[in-house]
Amino acid sequence: MHEAMIAQSILEAIIQEAAERGLRPLRARISCGELNPINDEAVNFAFEIAARGTACEGMRLEVRHVPLRATCESCGHTFEFDIYSPACPGCGGADFKMNPDAPLLLEEIEFEDT
Ligand SMILES: [Zn+2]
Repeated sequence: MHEAMIAQSILEAIIQEAAERGLRPLRARISCGELNPINDEAVNFAFEIAARGTACEGMRLEVRHVPLRATCESCGHTFEFDIYSPACPGCGGADFKMNPDAPLLLEEIEFEDT
């Protein structure tokens, strides 16, 4: 399952970071693109199970969904692509190319204060 694999790799990254800092992680934020979305509940559920007995037990993951963007071929404007209104908000043109979808990213880990 998509979310279980993601949860596992995020867990390993956080455990390594926490070990290097010698601090207990409290929460983390990850981001994903619109074409490859993560289900917030599913990834938290998988993470909770995978984190049992590790330094990450009890952590919460926050998922930031990064919208898909497009660049207009006529005026060069870059905008958030709206599937219900697929036109450039700058010039109204319909000639645009999609930007690459945002990658899965571990954006931030919040550690406990020492
Ligand atoms: Zn335009």
